[in-house]
Amino acid sequence: MLLTLTGHSFRFECENLCRVFFPYSPVRVPEEPEEPAPGESWAETRVVQEPSGGWCYTVRASDGRDVAERQTTSPELAEYPLTRLLYEVLSGLTGISPAWGMLTGVHPVKLLRQHVERLGFESGAEDYQSKWLVSPARVDLAKRVLSAQKEAVDCLSPQSFSLYVGIPFCPTRCAYCSFISQDMQNAKKLVEPYLRLLHQELERTAQIAEELDLELVSVYVGGGTPTTLSPEQLEALCGKITSLFSFGRCREFTVEAGRPDSITPEKLLALKDAGVTRISINPQTMSDRVLENIGRRHTARDVEEAFALAQSLGFEDINADLIVGLPGDDFPGFQETLDRVLGLGPSSVTVHSLALKRSAAMVTEEADLSLHKRPRETAAMVDHSIRRLTGAGFEPYYLYRQTRMAGNLENTGWAKPGCVCRYNIYTMDESGSVIACGAGGTSKLKDPYSSNLKRVFNFKFPFEYISRHQEILERKDQVKEIYEQFCQRLH
Ligand code: SF4
Repeated sequence: MLLTLTGHSFRFECENLCRVFFPYSPVRVPEEPEEPAPGESWAETRVVQEPSGGWCYTVRASDGRDVAERQTTSPELAEYPLTRLLYEVLSGLTGISPAWGMLTGVHPVKLLRQHVERLGFESGAEDYQSKWLVSPARVDLAKRVLSAQKEAVDCLSPQSFSLYVGIPFCPTRCAYCSFISQDMQNAKKLVEPYLRLLHQELERTAQIAEELDLELVSVYVGGGTPTTLSPEQLEALCGKITSLFSFGRCREFTVEAGRPDSITPEKLLALKDAGVTRISINPQTMSDRVLENIGRRHTARDVEEAFALAQSLGFEDINADLIVGLPGDDFPGFQETLDRVLGLGPSSVTVHSLALKRSAAMVTEEADLSLHKRPRETAAMVDHSIRRLTGAGFEPYYLYRQTRMAGNLENTGWAKPGCVCRYNIYTMDESGSVIACGAGGTSKLKDPYSSNLKRVFNFKFPFEYISRHQEILERKDQVKEIYEQFCQRLH
């Protein structure tokens, strides 16, 4: 798609909106005037100041066949009038009314919270809907999420923080994965040095938390697949975490067991003995054929056995991740997946819409993306998950979106009452601070006295994490400095 910008600098949001309507044609924004190729979709956006001092906004666009044009005026030069006009023109041309309306960001619930804080719950939600043109069904979902988060968000204090610990190793690499994870065949020799340095980073983090008088409220060990580690390595890691940090106010300790092919009784026992309260066992689908399509080397039966094993060892809080839009899956297949997973008795279920980043093998190998290109069927599956999970007593409690997502939908975490994962709320909704250790981790430090959020990144790859570890420790000092700045601003 060809996008031209004249008289303004609102490129980022204009590009994002074009992608919503034309998700499979890369958006080009040429420096020099350029004609669209025959049949190519295009949009011209123009802002001109009028003699009266006001601003005139014009959008002309084509889907490659028809052309539409509209104009509006505003006393201000601002992004919103232009993007709303672009949205209306593209929606009219394509006949598409996106579920999330004009919203292209990853945190739609965070935005709803801002409206609600300003105007109250119902009026804030109405304002959100009419300003961003969000569908009634998605406004309802976002309102339910906001309500389900309330207790976890309200109990945060300025001292609260969550700890994220990254284990960037997996048994093998899934075809849809864009995460920087090393498969164990290639990375075995990195694991021990990685863990040694991770323990050092945890020590430095605990020291900083103590110096700043911070209170740990949740722990999440994710990846990758943390259960690629041996029982001894898991025991040492979890033991390190519990010995370094005070767990007096910590409400949950999650370890993402993830792939059932990495789970053994010895590993689960090590987690249980270390005080882990919540685990995740992620089927993604219960169709063996689809599992094979996406390169997961386990079967639906392995998922059932892993659940039964974890439950027999006393784990009551178990999450199951599912993905909508996988190649080879269809509506009846997804219905069956959801029914079988609910039959396993999870306390929470996360329904992801497949998002394909360019680094995923499925994209680079141009494998079967047919379902990804059938947005109606994907949307029907997501709608089914909303009805089925609601009927089974689950409430949506966190929600986020990604780019290149099947059907331009969302990922939603559902939990039985009392079983929300606080860490997911704090990190996905950016409502609480997270300090991250390990490769691929990002610390998100929320100013307790304003809506400011600062990020400190760790290196993504285990190799860099190991070879440049001194820098990782120095970045922990940045975490401390940022907290000190937050406090200084208050005084
Ligand atoms: S288990 Fe998750 S992180 Fe690991 S390869 Fe598969 S999708 Fe990627």
